[in-house]
Amino acid sequence: MKIGIIGAGQLGRMLALAGYPLAQQFQFLDTSADSPGGQVAPIVTGAFDDPTSLERLAADVDIVTYEFENVPVSALHAVSRTRPCLPPVEALRVSQDRLYEKELFTKLGIPTPPFRAVDSLEGLRAAVAEIGLPAVLKTRRLGYDGKGQHVLRKAADVEAAWAALGQAPLILEGFVRFEREVSIIGARSTRGEVRCYPIVDNTHRGGILRVTLAPHRSRALQQAAERHLQRLLRHFDYAGILTIEFFVHGGRLVANEMAPRVHNSGHWTIEGAATSQFENHLRAILGLPLGDTRPLGHAAMVNFIGAMPERARVLALPGVHYHDYGKASRPGRKVGHATIVAATAAERDRLVKRVQRLLPK
Ligand code: AMP
Repeated sequence: MKIGIIGAGQLGRMLALAGYPLAQQFQFLDTSADSPGGQVAPIVTGAFDDPTSLERLAADVDIVTYEFENVPVSALHAVSRTRPCLPPVEALRVSQDRLYEKELFTKLGIPTPPFRAVDSLEGLRAAVAEIGLPAVLKTRRLGYDGKGQHVLRKAADVEAAWAALGQAPLILEGFVRFEREVSIIGARSTRGEVRCYPIVDNTHRGGILRVTLAPHRSRALQQAAERHLQRLLRHFDYAGILTIEFFVHGGRLVANEMAPRVHNSGHWTIEGAATSQFENHLRAILGLPLGDTRPLGHAAMVNFIGAMPERARVLALPGVHYHDYGKASRPGRKVGHATIVAATAAERDRLVKRVQRLLPK
């Protein structure tokens, strides 16, 4: 089979790398010919909403998937008329809009922070009066890694936040004083088989994921997270990997967002789980049996943001695996990661600190 991947970033690259042992071939679509995926498979270059580029991709592959959420839904609908397109386009449509996402969570009984749609300065004032402060104003669409967000702490922040973001449709959310952030990743295959990975602890700084620790051992949170994920998987008649990011507040899960794709908080599964999220995504969309999602000890993922550390010094650490996406250095850019696998949580945590000391300042 030949799999078309929309987006040739690091996620697409890791999907292709996981697919070669399964005897799959790949073809990407991306706006840039020198995206990371281009190192491992050909890229059709063109805009994601350009019907000709999408047709060229679809003509050459058996099935289409995506690694990138900002693909126009109309473009994917067009592709899905000629080729299976998984995960389902409806999951992508919902995930592209924070309001639709939170409305669906609410409908399925998945707890969220309080939220209101905001379309005017008066509407923002009314939403602040209902939800209270602090609160987070976010663009409904096209936000990622904390971009397009403004925290409102006092009434005087309202106008500045509106001036910064008010040109786009917005959502105001209650600010969650979370104890921690966790995520769950699960796969559902076209045959309806479901496997969930253990929930993991995520640390963000500047809105960007820095470190994931796996597994987070809480039976109650694991069961709740799996229940929420199962509801979404069933709702969409889903196939592929689906991720939900949660805040833990008062010992309970509060859903922040979902991603209908492989996820940065799942990179630890490459060496840290019996089957990686990338391989399970491919197995799921191809209707193959899903792989074991068990963790192989205590794992961590440390993101390399902006620039890579010195390779030889990372490789010298036992149990540490080095992933370089082949991207140019740029502040705030995810250019690679390390996966750490250790026999104990204490040993894993020591290795995380040693990797962090090697990060360029
Ligand atoms: P997002 O782009 O929604 O994933 O947000 C990026 C990061 O901002 C999250 O991982 C949190 O650390 C923080 N954040 C987002 N929404 C909220 C919220 N409602 N309350 C508290 N922190 C938030």
